Amino acid sequence: MFKAKAYSASSATSPLALDNIQRREPSKRDVQIEILFCGICHSDLHTARNEWSSVMPTTYPCVPGHEIVGRVIKVGSDVKSFNPDEIVGVGCLVDSDQSCPACQANVEQFCPDSTFTYNSPDKHLGGVTYGGYSESIVVDEKFVLKVPGNLNLAGVAPLLCAGITTYSPIRRWGDIKGKKVGVVGLGGLGHMGVKFAKAFGAHVVVFTTSPGKKDDAVRLGADEVIISTDTEQMKKHAGSFDFILDTVSADHDINVYLGMLSMDGTVTLVGAPEKPLAVSAFALIFGRKNLNGSLIGGLKETQEMLDFCGEHNITSDVEVIPIQKVNEAYERLVKSDVKYRFSIDMASLKAE
Ligand code: NAP
Ligand code: ZN
Repeated sequence: MFKAKAYSASSATSPLALDNIQRREPSKRDVQIEILFCGICHSDLHTARNEWSSVMPTTYPCVPGHEIVGRVIKVGSDVKSFNPDEIVGVGCLVDSDQSCPACQANVEQFCPDSTFTYNSPDKHLGGVTYGGYSESIVVDEKFVLKVPGNLNLAGVAPLLCAGITTYSPIRRWGDIKGKKVGVVGLGGLGHMGVKFAKAFGAHVVVFTTSPGKKDDAVRLGADEVIISTDTEQMKKHAGSFDFILDTVSADHDINVYLGMLSMDGTVTLVGAPEKPLAVSAFALIFGRKNLNGSLIGGLKETQEMLDFCGEHNITSDVEVIPIQKVNEAYERLVKSDVKYRFSIDMASLKAE
């Protein structure tokens, strides 16, 4: 074992602060990574503050972070795909049983024995796994991803969660070219949803509660922007969408978006608000609407997404911050004031 500096929350109400955690020595199949950048996902905040206590209670100390880009420091003797000095990524998953039907279907996120990057039982060291707000991490090579060489690394980090979480349901929907696609919420996930939907040729409409994000939405690829609190604007688009991706992190009325769908249209929820959302049966049965959900993506699809981003020069729009600003960043996330993902420059942790 070796020690690594990290930022952790010691309770649901404490700010994140400097901590020392243990990492395992790399075993035969492991890759040891020096973390260069780590994105801040709203899931980090939900977890640090134990907002998902009824489904996934948080064990403290909690070291969040599952949008990791770093440099390989060391590889185990059986590691075949990675070499020291290579730039790699790690997302939300660090292990799974690799034999169940979900793993065989390349959707490791649904493996009953999957290990998430943080706040999951740690099979190696006991306790729970610790995430990317840290100087290093040790991960089985199966869960390490190749990063295209042409992309800005601070902007690549958020692809590992916000990227794959929006790419996967858009790809799964089918041929989205020319379809009317809505993205609800222009935050970390939402802005990546806009980029991917546009890249696949959709007519993209952003629903936002923040009028100040209108110009950015267009710059990011939106064909139209609707201020969702303006009922007149909303009425004009009722019943017209093929697909809507809902990325909202807080309580909101999902029935409004079901009402925006045309017959047989689909709302896919990726946002994970703390409290259950009330769904009206009538909003679903009139027009035979669909409501489903999506969780990140498997390793194969995550690599495909990264390669797609390399080919199309897609990265996240980031505000790079030192780790010392993480608590401030959390406060801004709660206020929907992020443009459009915070990416922590992990070199700042060395100074502590
Ligand atoms: P984020 O950057 O904070 O963005 C969320 C956006 O939702 C905000 O920027 C805001 O956009 C909108 N919003 C916030 N509060 C709202 C409210 N009360 N009513 C309406 N809109 C509101 O968060 P994120 O990192 O993108 O994550 C979004 C959600 O997805 C979180 O719940 C997160 O845990 C979840 N998530 C799920 C997965 C998955 O696999 N399914 C993966 C990652 C994250 P506007 O200002 O444009 O209105
Ligand atoms: Zn995330």
